Amino acid sequence: MSGSVPAFGGQPLDRADPVRSDPARLAELRGAGALLLGLDGLAPEMDGTAGLAWLPLAAAAPEAELVFLGLRGGQALFAAVPGQGDRDPAYAHRKSWAAIAQLSAGDLAIYGGARSVLDWHARHRFCAQCGQPTELAKGGWQRDCAGCGAQHFPRVDPVAIMLVECDGKLLLGRQARFPPRSYSALAGFVEPGETVEEAVAREVFEEAGVRVRDVRYIASQPWPFPSQLMIGCHAAAEGDALTIDTTELEDARWFERAEIAEAMDKGEASTGFKAPTSRAIAHYLLRWWLER
Ligand SMILES: [Zn+2]
Repeated sequence: MSGSVPAFGGQPLDRADPVRSDPARLAELRGAGALLLGLDGLAPEMDGTAGLAWLPLAAAAPEAELVFLGLRGGQALFAAVPGQGDRDPAYAHRKSWAAIAQLSAGDLAIYGGARSVLDWHARHRFCAQCGQPTELAKGGWQRDCAGCGAQHFPRVDPVAIMLVECDGKLLLGRQARFPPRSYSALAGFVEPGETVEEAVAREVFEEAGVRVRDVRYIASQPWPFPSQLMIGCHAAAEGDALTIDTTELEDARWFERAEIAEAMDKGEASTGFKAPTSRAIAHYLLRWWLER
């Protein structure tokens, strides 16, 4: 299996949870050579050797809210909450994507986790319960409301993404915004009151009109645009007739194993469809399926 975990996984930092709730220890670490993640808004700054840039913690604005990312060796790493959250869709982030193409797996996991939690802070400055301003707490892994006492926690939004198989072929689809010839696994948000298996079955039926059974979990991926947890599954289709919901998908069809192997092996040079980027869990799932 190429890559033991999907991109953005494999966090190399010690999250050091006890430190988060120990203000004295946090203050001590801040004074002991702590580093600040270099960011331009929410895009990563690079260090010149394809790694994340780290600055002395003193480089942070005096009034900045700081998130404790964790420990590397004994050194504490922090990131500052930007003035504004992210209002653009993930595919609009040219600067982030250029960096993402270069970063090592470890740096990608550090950046992804930081990006999600920073964006959450920037978009949750007011209490959802009473409307009063909230304050960063627990080293940046919580916000508290002084007005009503509510505690707020960083969001993780579960998304089911699935390889649907019928007679050795896989169902892949494309949205109108995808680059030309690109196809990927179907996916959708898990809704309140739903299991992952039920979300897989509902999404596949809604988008492609296909009934599935035997849903199996394969692997997951934290996706930081802004905070999805992609839950990768495999499911068996009960038939291959398609009824495509064209408000969701521009096209969907069944792909032979050889077509998928060619797209995965040749990348841009593929004469058939274009496989998902290597940073996407869909790429990981397709590789898993081919190597199974
Ligand atoms: Zn409140």
